Amino acid sequence: MEAGDKMSTNMEFKRKVAIPKDIREMYPLEEKYAQIKEKNDEVIRKIFTGEDDRLILIIGPCSADREDAVIDYCKRLRKLQDEVIDEIVMIPRVYTNKPRTTGEGYKGMLHQPNPQDEVDLVKGVIAVRKLHLDVIKETGFSTADEMLYPDNYRYLYDVLSYVAVGARSVENQEHRLVASGLDIPCGMKNPTSGDYKVMLNSINAAQHPHTFIYRSWEVETKGNLLTHAILRGYNNKHGDSHPNYHYEDIMRLISMYDADKYHNPAIIVDCNHSNSNKNYIEQIRIAKEVLHSASHNPLINKYVKGLMIESYIEDGCQKVDGGVYGKSITDPCLGWEKTEALVREIREIRKQNKQKANN
Ligand code: PEP
Ligand code: MN
Repeated sequence: MEAGDKMSTNMEFKRKVAIPKDIREMYPLEEKYAQIKEKNDEVIRKIFTGEDDRLILIIGPCSADREDAVIDYCKRLRKLQDEVIDEIVMIPRVYTNKPRTTGEGYKGMLHQPNPQDEVDLVKGVIAVRKLHLDVIKETGFSTADEMLYPDNYRYLYDVLSYVAVGARSVENQEHRLVASGLDIPCGMKNPTSGDYKVMLNSINAAQHPHTFIYRSWEVETKGNLLTHAILRGYNNKHGDSHPNYHYEDIMRLISMYDADKYHNPAIIVDCNHSNSNKNYIEQIRIAKEVLHSASHNPLINKYVKGLMIESYIEDGCQKVDGGVYGKSITDPCLGWEKTEALVREIREIRKQNKQKANN
């Protein structure tokens, strides 16, 4: 069955979507912005290789639902970034593809450039690229997104500085192989079951070279040595959320990292999702607990390179048609005021911890 074939099947080929190369040419990353991204990438790379000891914050809304509010948010983040640059390097979460637990609901800007309108993927690929480009142009940040559909990565490969593979995708062969061909850090989340070995196998797979079919090409990758772990909490067999950000959880992952051979072993702690049980406000306490663990143990301090925080302009979340500007329509987020206070506090704690370590 191919596009245009009228044979009755369960999949209708509705219309062609412009290929990534065409969209990139229509909406190019200008040279001056490409240079900014390259500089950002270099800073971020040095944190993952241990040459720079600042803390990464992958921070922003659960889903980038509308361009105006996301750009507004990123501009606020820019000011805050400049204030805390001595301790913190931020990568805005501009998440345009949303995996859904039950398969139902809003699937992100890619599917619905306007969440109130019908699904329109032809417009979606443009809206997503335009948003990531506009963040660089308006703020000098290059962005993070989830690589939910590895095929679509080519729409964005020149603009993203960080990619995560989500808890529902991390065991998937295609995600792991495509991750092995990225030039930017790729965070592998622990699966929803919490199995560390699944996550570590995925990191191992992505750190090695592979040959496979990608977008109708036989491709060969070199392996991505910046692939690392993201702890996001897990669900048990009864479906209850459990955290994995505590001291012992992190130490267990470090011992597994050490037992095998990995390049640039690193951990990002996702403060929301099953770690907070989506009680977004708990992210404040969780972030501080992780910093506390790092201050107690130099190994944790070395391995934990950053935190992921779900944050937006307004606290909490709303239904998709809620209409409140800057309020999440997927997972609940910390609002701007609390975000600002938390980021400043993170900086202070890190400075104090360093002073203590030097005394
Ligand atoms: C997210 O980061 O919003 C997300 C869906 O994460 P996870 O894959 O951990 O559920
Ligand atoms: Mn989320």
